[in-house]
Amino acid sequence: MKAAVLENNKFVIMDIPKPILDEYGKGAIIKVIGCGLCGSDIVKMRTGKAKNGSVLGHEVIGEIVEIDSNTMFQAGDRVALGHHVPCFNCQYCWGQSYSMCRHFKETNIIPGGFAEYIYVSEEHLQNTVFNVNFGLSDIEASFLEPLACCIRAVKRANIRDNTKTLIIGLGSVGILMGQAVKAFGNEVYGCDLISERVLFSENYGFTKSYTTTDTAKALGEMYNAAPNGFDVVFLTAGASAAVNLSLKAVRDGGTVVVFSSITGDNAFKNNDIYYRELNILGSYSPSPMDLEDSMQLLEKNRVKVNGISEIYSINDINNALKDTTSNKIMKAYIKL
Ligand SMILES: [Zn+2]
Ligand SMILES: [Zn+2]
Repeated sequence: MKAAVLENNKFVIMDIPKPILDEYGKGAIIKVIGCGLCGSDIVKMRTGKAKNGSVLGHEVIGEIVEIDSNTMFQAGDRVALGHHVPCFNCQYCWGQSYSMCRHFKETNIIPGGFAEYIYVSEEHLQNTVFNVNFGLSDIEASFLEPLACCIRAVKRANIRDNTKTLIIGLGSVGILMGQAVKAFGNEVYGCDLISERVLFSENYGFTKSYTTTDTAKALGEMYNAAPNGFDVVFLTAGASAAVNLSLKAVRDGGTVVVFSSITGDNAFKNNDIYYRELNILGSYSPSPMDLEDSMQLLEKNRVKVNGISEIYSINDINNALKDTTSNKIMKAYIKL
């Protein structure tokens, strides 16, 4: 089967063996229809976390073509899925840190979403695979997992009525985070260095977004909207300057949710946290419950995910990568 295999920071289209159901035991073989290219795929490539020869991609929409399972799924089902499954029975899971569960980290789809076929285990079918109804397009359904990540972050931030929320970084993740915040009944503000993205966000229900090329000016405008600062600030930008900006934008006693990796050594300082009574918390990857909530919001049309992704064929995946990293596009959807 055709797959985009990682080789020295690039994808190489190759013929690799198709996963065989009998080899792995219960589960299903899914013919991949498409798969979103995630920022985390790019980080894994750049940091060497993903080894040469591996197949990336996890934001999969596909069709079950072979199945051996005790679940209700059948061949022919169109499904979207999450790729990690927690054990629900360890110290991490008991504390609701599902994405820290060691079993969660070990489980995955085989070989990865940028391939014609993948194998998913019985555990995946039981917990992280969802039927997609007719109302949702393939691209919309491919947002199941990234939207679920944002839903987890919103839940962790404990947003209540009248919470003033700011999202720093208006790439595809920032836009999705805004959708999640709004779906939970709150207004949302945003900011980014790139003015096109600021404009783009206004089509997605952001009350107001600010361009931060001139930080002092942007902060002045933000304080008009939130005179004491924002209750919750989501950090989805990968630039280190965003850490300082988050500290200026958040109110005393407020919460900063760290939702992106940043290169270099950028610390939240002890005394900021102490004297200003700040909550700094991370949110990483979704639980099966977040995936379920994500599917509900998508199906009920409570979030807008249209118009975020550009479509590329698998043969063109290196251009998708280039256009994403150069900020020419917001996000790529790879069609198999
Ligand atoms: Zn992802
Ligand atoms: Zn566990």
